[in-house]
Amino acid sequence: MTRFTIRKALVFSILLVLTMLESGNTRAQKHRQGSSPASNLSTSRNVQLSNELAWTFGNKPQRGWYLYTPLISRLLNTRDAVSSTGFAKSLAAWQRKMGLKSTGELDDQSLYEMIKVWQGARLKDREVAAPDRLVTVPISEFYDPTRAEELRKVERATYAAYKKMVAAAVANHSLGLARGAHGELAPGEKFLKIISAFRSREYQDKLRRESPNSGSAGLAVNSPHFTGRALDLYVGGEPVDTLDANRKVQTETRVYKWLVQNAERFGFRPYFYEPWHWEYVR
Ligand SMILES: [Zn+2]
Repeated sequence: MTRFTIRKALVFSILLVLTMLESGNTRAQKHRQGSSPASNLSTSRNVQLSNELAWTFGNKPQRGWYLYTPLISRLLNTRDAVSSTGFAKSLAAWQRKMGLKSTGELDDQSLYEMIKVWQGARLKDREVAAPDRLVTVPISEFYDPTRAEELRKVERATYAAYKKMVAAAVANHSLGLARGAHGELAPGEKFLKIISAFRSREYQDKLRRESPNSGSAGLAVNSPHFTGRALDLYVGGEPVDTLDANRKVQTETRVYKWLVQNAERFGFRPYFYEPWHWEYVR
């Protein structure tokens, strides 16, 4: 073999090895990108966004989405923590399904899309219930033991569904609800008691006059409460206070989390912004 041939063979071998290494790298990169885009992202980003994302609702600035974690987890059908890769993967799959950029990061675009889904699933009806559709509920089932009889009216089918839902909650011992002699919610138990149900136009107007600053995220001109199918239920904290600190208390209670997972079975859907407000949609 001449020296020239040896040199040529050597150069060829080096080139061959380099080509093999290069194609190996490309394959590995393709594999990582193709199999799961969410696995590359920093999972701490969702924790940060859950606390800090700036967005608006009803013209009011909002900060973070941690208050909606139970609803978000239900929507994504995941039990994984916000800090986990599993959560990011479930989110990425949902984003893809919704035609959004599949980043696995819960940014404002994804949050607004989720809000659209939740709001779209709510009761459309705003008609004032006819008197014969309403039943008067015993005072023992109300949160306020002095509430006047004319403020204790609920649409008939809604009340039947509410009773079934409460019975299921009481039977679930992990919720720790106090039970009465017949398996009903004990008179002394506050959780799941009705705070407000049917409202007449006059009563809604009075509530609006009393809290003029509640804005569009607050008391509606056309309230679902007119139908007798919207129930405000006690889920902890101050009964109906939208302050973030209060809603944080409420959305962390076992009862609220149970409602998020189970209310749909009984025909009730949430209003995402008010943890206490549930609407019967069947
Ligand atoms: Zn309400």
